[in-house]
Amino acid sequence: MKFDTKVVQAGTEPDPTTGSILPPVYQTATYVLEEVGQDKGFDYTRSSNPTRQVMEEILAELDGGQFGIAFASGMSAVDGVLKLLKAGDHVICSDDVYGGVSRYFNQILVNYDLHFTYVDSSIPTNVENAIQPKTKLIWIETPTNPLLKITDLEAVGEIAKKHNILFGVDSTFATPVFLRPMEFGADLVMHSTTKYLSGHNQLIGGVVITNREDLFEKLKFIQKTIGAVPGPFDCWLTILGLKTLDIRMKKHFSNAQAVAEYLEAHPKVFRVAYPGLPSHPCHAIAKKQMSGYSGMISFELIGGIPAAKIVMNSVQLAKLAESLGSVETMITHPATMTHADVPKKERDARGLTDGLVRISVGIENHKDIIADLKQALEQT
Ligand code: PLP
Repeated sequence: MKFDTKVVQAGTEPDPTTGSILPPVYQTATYVLEEVGQDKGFDYTRSSNPTRQVMEEILAELDGGQFGIAFASGMSAVDGVLKLLKAGDHVICSDDVYGGVSRYFNQILVNYDLHFTYVDSSIPTNVENAIQPKTKLIWIETPTNPLLKITDLEAVGEIAKKHNILFGVDSTFATPVFLRPMEFGADLVMHSTTKYLSGHNQLIGGVVITNREDLFEKLKFIQKTIGAVPGPFDCWLTILGLKTLDIRMKKHFSNAQAVAEYLEAHPKVFRVAYPGLPSHPCHAIAKKQMSGYSGMISFELIGGIPAAKIVMNSVQLAKLAESLGSVETMITHPATMTHADVPKKERDARGLTDGLVRISVGIENHKDIIADLKQALEQT
């Protein structure tokens, strides 16, 4: 099956009792046993739930994986992966990760004797040079939030394999439409399903996908033991969202390419980060491993912070909001919103300046999105 068929058809066996074309929402906490020791595959929804199971199977299939383990948020999915480690272990992490991830690592997990080194993983030798005897996980975000840096997954996959280190990829920005990290050697793929996968700003969720049965068993155990699981209705909404994933992503991508080109040519814009632009420093790697560049753009204005604030306060069609990956165009100020908990010194060191503006380009007509940005830029 081609990918665009798979997103529509995966997991949609008609319900055997009614023929319902969509899987039912099994909104239940528990399941009645016929007799002691005899359940029908489900005993308690923290452990497993039929609606959640359908969603996990679809998500795994789309990423080319065998196993999906769903969590209540992208952050709890990251937490699930980190619970595979032990006190004393060391993690190498992309330097430009989502602010919530670095907040979790630096303000919570360090208290549990886990150690982190952040590197610009777009240069794979940086990853290899950071390896220590206790390095147990390489955690890559690509494209990164918010600077859209790209990591060569094949190169990092080889490093991870050579040193026998677990290799996990946060693929939230790319989605399986454009990138399937397990094809490049990743052991684990993680998504915030809050974003493109559900796609309509309707829920919070996360998933981890793997082909390794040993990791699946451990993550399943962590999932049922901690219980940070999504509710059945949220799983059902995600299943619905996934059906249009391919067509939505193609529109996000073509719109974002047009918006990025418009911004790059604008005299008031200082720099644009979009992997689909030939000017992007990692364009060649993006082109090699991705089949499209998704819908996220970051840019800086010549007028710096004051001009950026005017633009963000003047847009009308684009909504000033945290989050990304929904059908509506959203504009964000990473320094005060998504990455406010990253210390300013660290933000500046990685190029996440206070004047940086991030756009999640929606699926409206691209001419309307550009017209909105044009009028906002005219206010500066
Ligand atoms: N990973 C990335 C790349 C993100 O952008 C986010 C949230 O913005 C997360 C993880 C966390 O996901 P959630 O908000 O669903 O917990």
